[in-house]
Amino acid sequence: MANPKKKHTPMRRDMRRSANFRLEAASLSTCPKCKASTLSHRVCGGCGYYGNELVLPPKQEKKNPEGK
Ligand SMILES: [Zn+2]
Repeated sequence: MANPKKKHTPMRRDMRRSANFRLEAASLSTCPKCKASTLSHRVCGGCGYYGNELVLPPKQEKKNPEGK
C-alpha cells in the first residue's frame, strides 16, 4: 500500500492549509428604514431598527449619573 515516506513538517502542512484560506467580504444588505448598508440579520447600526421594529433606541449623548 502506498504510504508517504516521511512525515510532512508542520510548516509544510500549514502552508498547504493556508493556500486555501481567503477572507471574504461581508455580505451587506440595505436597511429599509435609513437605507444604510448593514449586515443581514443584524440590527441596523444607524437607526436601531431590525425590520420594521425599533430594537435599539437612537443614541443619545451620554449622561454621567455621578455628575462628573
Ligand atoms: Zn437603519
